[in-house]
Amino acid sequence: MLDAQAISLVRAGLKSVLAEDDGPESIARSFYAHLFVEHPEFRGFFPAAMDQQRHRLIRALEYVIDNLEDATTFLPFLHQLGRDHRKHGLDGRHFLAAENALVSAFRSFVGTEVWTDSVEAAWRTTFAVVSNSMAAGADSDRMPAYWGATVVEHRLALDDLAVIRVQTDGVVPYEPGQYLSVQIPQRPRMWRYLSPAIPTNDHGGIEFHVRRVSGGWVSPAMVSDIAIGDRWLVGPPLGGLSVDTSPGCEDVLMIAGGTGLAPLRSQLMAMAMRSRNPRVHLFVSGQYPSDLYDIDTLWHLAQTNPWLTVVPVVEETEEPWWRPGSSRDIPRGLNHLQVGKVGQVVTRYGSWADRQIQICGSPAMVRSTMYALRLVGTPVEHIQFDPIGG
Ligand SMILES: Cc1cc2nc3c(=O)[nH]c(=O)nc-3n(C[C@H](O)[C@H](O)[C@H](O)COP(=O)(O)OP(=O)(O)OC[C@H]3O[C@@H](n4cnc5c(N)ncnc54)[C@H](O)[C@@H]3O)c2cc1C
Repeated sequence: MLDAQAISLVRAGLKSVLAEDDGPESIARSFYAHLFVEHPEFRGFFPAAMDQQRHRLIRALEYVIDNLEDATTFLPFLHQLGRDHRKHGLDGRHFLAAENALVSAFRSFVGTEVWTDSVEAAWRTTFAVVSNSMAAGADSDRMPAYWGATVVEHRLALDDLAVIRVQTDGVVPYEPGQYLSVQIPQRPRMWRYLSPAIPTNDHGGIEFHVRRVSGGWVSPAMVSDIAIGDRWLVGPPLGGLSVDTSPGCEDVLMIAGGTGLAPLRSQLMAMAMRSRNPRVHLFVSGQYPSDLYDIDTLWHLAQTNPWLTVVPVVEETEEPWWRPGSSRDIPRGLNHLQVGKVGQVVTRYGSWADRQIQICGSPAMVRSTMYALRLVGTPVEHIQFDPIGG
């Protein structure tokens, strides 16, 4: 394990990378260049467009290095990352090969004057922890690397948001709140994470809510080009958002932005099958009223489950000109529509310091909501979100 001095050397190194505009991109590019030069056979495991891969590499390193003192946080994360890489056809041996490429990438970035023996030793130990833990995660996993699935329904809830149902070959054993890696035939090898919007069931049916990200590689195809009968690949479950429902547990605050609703909805549906639950306040948000695309389902859930309160939030009450006729009424019986950024609206009610809190949405929404909660003194350790979001 690393001592305090080694940890501070590694943190200072990463900080210098992040401080430069193109630092993260250049480290990630250099890592994959070194890796593919030393192991040309690895290139075939990855897609042609590597932007998402590079972005995830840096986010994962940032998360691990931020939490280096706390093995209970970074180890499960790395085990899961290792398991997740099995979908690319990678196993334990491949992670060990990545260690040298990471060291070479950082060495070229910081330059030889700064790259002393102690700096190299600190990075080598860090990357050895990363690769050994990922290898352990990958090699100990007994689940299939992925399942086949058939698209059985595709419906546009908005012009840029599709509700897609697939039927998997065998049941994918995910917990409500977890997410899955998905590959579609229109974009081979470009895996993307999606969160099931319903709990797992005996029939292997999964519902996804997908929003088109403008300029994205995969989400526009998922929204517009999917046909019934398409065959998808679905990777094993990842992530650990969950509600503690044990007796005496704290009440719950959930905050959803856009399709970030999906993993919260899945947990609420699972809770609806239980006889006793903590109280849950769900703030469901979007920019315009039509972005509250699933408000009717939430209304039904709240009507039949007295422990659930749903508060709709929008940033603007008028629909934009380019979405004519899409105005949506908030069902009677739900709380009044609140207006503002969801973080500001939530914190008008106080700090929610006595709640279990989950935030799900775009990276920008999660960041601004975390910031708003911190300003009013919400304990950060009560807040769950997915560390690799975006
Ligand atoms: C844990 C997790 C769960 C997710 N669950 C869902 C889900 O249930 N439904 C869903 O629609 N999406 C979900 N996503 C996002 C999804 O995985 C893709 O990132 C998203 O669909 C964009 O993929 P793309 O190939 O179209 O864009 P890319 O080609 O990967 O990216 C294109 C550009 O868009 C930016 N970008 C990527 N994602 C976003 C975003 N969400 N908002 C704004 N800009 C972005 C990228 O930084 C890049 O600059 C989830 C992501 C994570 C990490």
